[in-house]
Amino acid sequence: MSKSSTAAFPAEPFQNEPHTDFSRAANRDAFKRALSDVASQLGREYPLIIDGKAVSSRKSIISLNPSHSAQVVGRIAAATPDQAEEAIDTARRAFNQWRKVEPLHRAEYLELIAAEMRNRRFELSAWMVYECGKPWAEADGDVAEAIDFCMYYAEQMRWLSVPVQCDFPGEENSYFYQARGVAVIISPWNFPLAILTGMTVAALVAGNTVIMKPAEQSSVIAAKLFEMIRDAGVPDGVVTYLPGIGDEIGPALVDSPDVDLVAFTGSQSVGLSINEQAARTPPSQNHVKKVIAEMGGKNAIVIDEDADLDEAVQGVVGSAFGFAGQKCSACSRVIVLAPAYEPFLERLQGATESLKLGPAEDPGTTIGPVIDEDAQQRILGYVEIGRNECRTVVSTDVGELSGEGYYVGPHVFADVAADSPLAQQEIFGPVLAVMKANDLDEAFSFANSTDYALTGGMYSRSPKNLRRARTEMRVGNLYLNRPITGALVQRHPFGGYKLSGIGSKAGGHDYLLQFLIPIAVSENTLRRGFAPPPDDEA
Ligand code: NAD
Repeated sequence: MSKSSTAAFPAEPFQNEPHTDFSRAANRDAFKRALSDVASQLGREYPLIIDGKAVSSRKSIISLNPSHSAQVVGRIAAATPDQAEEAIDTARRAFNQWRKVEPLHRAEYLELIAAEMRNRRFELSAWMVYECGKPWAEADGDVAEAIDFCMYYAEQMRWLSVPVQCDFPGEENSYFYQARGVAVIISPWNFPLAILTGMTVAALVAGNTVIMKPAEQSSVIAAKLFEMIRDAGVPDGVVTYLPGIGDEIGPALVDSPDVDLVAFTGSQSVGLSINEQAARTPPSQNHVKKVIAEMGGKNAIVIDEDADLDEAVQGVVGSAFGFAGQKCSACSRVIVLAPAYEPFLERLQGATESLKLGPAEDPGTTIGPVIDEDAQQRILGYVEIGRNECRTVVSTDVGELSGEGYYVGPHVFADVAADSPLAQQEIFGPVLAVMKANDLDEAFSFANSTDYALTGGMYSRSPKNLRRARTEMRVGNLYLNRPITGALVQRHPFGGYKLSGIGSKAGGHDYLLQFLIPIAVSENTLRRGFAPPPDDEA
């Protein structure tokens, strides 16, 4: 192979925000204090914020603590379709000013937001513990990722703000970027701060005005993000806080001829319907909407027959059961080569049974609750299918936690058929399907047999087989001999394809381009007949 064909561009320097070391007593104490401070603020009311003003609504969303479902985290105004229209009008008006703010200045706002997140780090994590049932380390990672998005996109915008010149004698040619317009950001609850922040600040730094429509279940955390955006000095009207019920205000936002871009992260069904709706161009609309949609996954890890099983079991358990399996990147299928199948299952069972189920605020908890009752019932439906169709390897009873919150114990089912719902559908909970493959061809074919292509992984000691995985496993993010969750901004730009997503990867070097319009200007500089006005003549 020639040297040039193996050359690669090194990434620009970027420092990810470090995660908190909870082995240090000082950090544990500070986190406990944040939990108790935030506990004293539960149950408050949160209005919509349109054009910098608090606006109430006749309807509200009641956000509950999934660990203790009788506890109200907050009561949030739920926007009506009329209020969604008002928010779009405001954003349209604010766009004329915001688009003209220097990109370097806009980048500074993101750094101020990041600084505010650092100041409020444990408090923000504590809100996620209560509102989304995130265990400590998961909540802490969520804040770190939000900070990374702010810092990384600020830096990317600095690069993108420099025009590319391609001049010739007598002709100046420049290529540069402009904002698109009004961006609607629709986010999920599972990375309640990081994903909402990432999509919002990307749109913002690119010069768009933003309507933030958070998930119903994490609307209080979104209100905290709005506070930080406001405290950073972003002018009124540039960002609107518009919580609401997705299928009530979603259509008003997505259909509006005054919206230029929709950035969505969430389920496949909602993402596909948004993509379809946004593609319509009614006569009153003079542009085609840009849609960025990051959707679900059905992620598989392949265990080769020579894999280090201790390492593989640890990686699979972390990837499958971290945050109770509620990560889009979570491992929900393990495909094991026949010779390793039974030994792997035996160790997987032991490791899974040792996980501690409990409320998220308890520092000893490894698996907290699932997000709400609907999710709990849906996941238990899959557990029932597993019990009927497959070999049950682990079935954890929630014991005395039953009735306290929305708990589902970790479950492992083996001998899962390739066409079983357990092997095909996104469960989004702590349920793991294990499948046996006779050889690597069959393993890759099982791995690729769903509509999704988000994350995937392989544990193997064979360089040849690992090379095969690189080309044959059809996923957006492939992880070899390591867990498949925990993507870091810039190091692991994140996103899928097939029915897992449309768009460049979040936290990647080309992500911001989606929020921008490229413009080329060519000027004849011979200036024949050019008549400067008198004040230019001095
Ligand atoms: P969801 O699709 O139910 O909701 C996401 C958002 O869409 C919410 O804000 C909701 O209110 C809104 N919504 C619902 N109906 C709508 C409609 N008709 N029009 C407009 N908006 C509407 O998803 P969720 O339960 O919040 O999140 C879990 C899903 O998100 C999983 O499928 C997971 O895989 C996916 N996810 C993907 C990624 C990724 O990067 N690919 C990251 C995180 C989560």
